[in-house]
Amino acid sequence: MDADVVVVGAGVVGLASAAELSRAGLSVVVAERHTGPGRETSSRNSQVLHAGLYYPPGSRKARLCVAGNRSLAAFCEAHGVPFQRTGKWLLALEPGEEERLAEIVATGRANGAPLEEVPLARFREEEPHVRAAAAVLSPSTGILDVHGLFRVFRAIAEENGAAFAFRHELRAAAPAPGGYELVFDDPSGDEVRLSTPRVVNAAGLDADVVAALPGLDVDAAGYRQTWTKGSYFRVRSSRRHLARRLLYPVMPHGFGSVLGIHLTVDLDGELRLGPDVEPLEERRADYAVDESRLGAFLAAARRYLPALVEDDLAPDQSGIRARLQAIGAPFRDFVVAEESERGLAGWVNLVGIESPGLTCCLELAREVRALLAPASEGRTVAAGPTAVRA
Ligand SMILES: Cc1cc2nc3c(=O)[nH]c(=O)nc-3n(C[C@H](O)[C@H](O)[C@H](O)COP(=O)(O)OP(=O)(O)OC[C@H]3O[C@@H](n4cnc5c(N)ncnc54)[C@H](O)[C@@H]3O)c2cc1C
Repeated sequence: MDADVVVVGAGVVGLASAAELSRAGLSVVVAERHTGPGRETSSRNSQVLHAGLYYPPGSRKARLCVAGNRSLAAFCEAHGVPFQRTGKWLLALEPGEEERLAEIVATGRANGAPLEEVPLARFREEEPHVRAAAAVLSPSTGILDVHGLFRVFRAIAEENGAAFAFRHELRAAAPAPGGYELVFDDPSGDEVRLSTPRVVNAAGLDADVVAALPGLDVDAAGYRQTWTKGSYFRVRSSRRHLARRLLYPVMPHGFGSVLGIHLTVDLDGELRLGPDVEPLEERRADYAVDESRLGAFLAAARRYLPALVEDDLAPDQSGIRARLQAIGAPFRDFVVAEESERGLAGWVNLVGIESPGLTCCLELAREVRALLAPASEGRTVAAGPTAVRA
């Protein structure tokens, strides 16, 4: 089988890219090693539509997050993907943290994100169970249903002729006349070969492994990813009245995550704490949540939700971040690179797509389309058929 473009990985970025590229008129094959879409990071996250508050102004993360906050929300509304603009509170828990809060507000505003400084009296009226020294509202933050999103992206891609090859793992790739020869293991363990002029590497946790397959030196390119696990604990249903919106305490510079142990409210109003930050020495996808972390979660959460007790928490899911940036190291941006300069024309690598990758998926896909099908600028999936619904 041949295709105009092969997308490796059916996470949210690969799915969005397949939808965009197929609408641009390219014949697309999506190859995914699991039995269905979104089985790795894309379904193991907070499902938050981020506002774009933490990333350096002008960076790709900042630009795509602010743009994605609008475009993905519009997309969800147009295609019936469950979505709510819940809003989130940024919290300074001690008076000494107000400076850090002001810094985040300045960065967010420089990025173009709306933020409202709310008088403490109004905050306490709205969130009587939450303790804070100062609170700022991010009204554009929301929550969405990732599974609904997977379904719509896949349906748009299939409607435009894309084919999905699940249980196909890319094992080898080599430049060949006119593009690349790709070798996959199929479900029976046999080799399947595919020729294509274009490849989109949207392989998430293994994006660096896939980038190396056609001979690219990932260390020289700065594409080596490290894995950092994030675990969640859910709050028992009877305590869901403790918060109405998402709660994000500000974190000092150099903390493992800019977000800290925050609290999200899902589309059913249930509360969840996390994710925390656990660097993994070994690249092993072990998603078990270590119950002994409960004490640390409770202590962190009780700083802003003092009514929580141990019995309110239970282990939930975990996810793994694909990071380019070591903890405490300088900022690294998303990589979206067409690799002609490294002798790999038509090969696009998406590397280091950690948070806010879900918020940015549509915008990342548009960048991919602009790199591989520039003549089709303007035909985007957001403007696509509203007949496709979650
Ligand atoms: C704990 C956590 C919380 C997060 N919360 C948020 C949030 O609230 N909001 C937000 O915007 N972002 C969030 N993110 C980030 C977001 O989830 C990711 O940026 C996004 O899901 C990345 O999508 P992806 O398609 O690049 O990767 P993935 O979802 O990992 O998809 C990659 C796919 O490639 C496949 N694959 C890999 N190698 C091969 C191969 N050789 N052959 C075939 N298939 C292959 C994998 O099986 C996988 O399905 C969070 C991330 C984590 C870890």
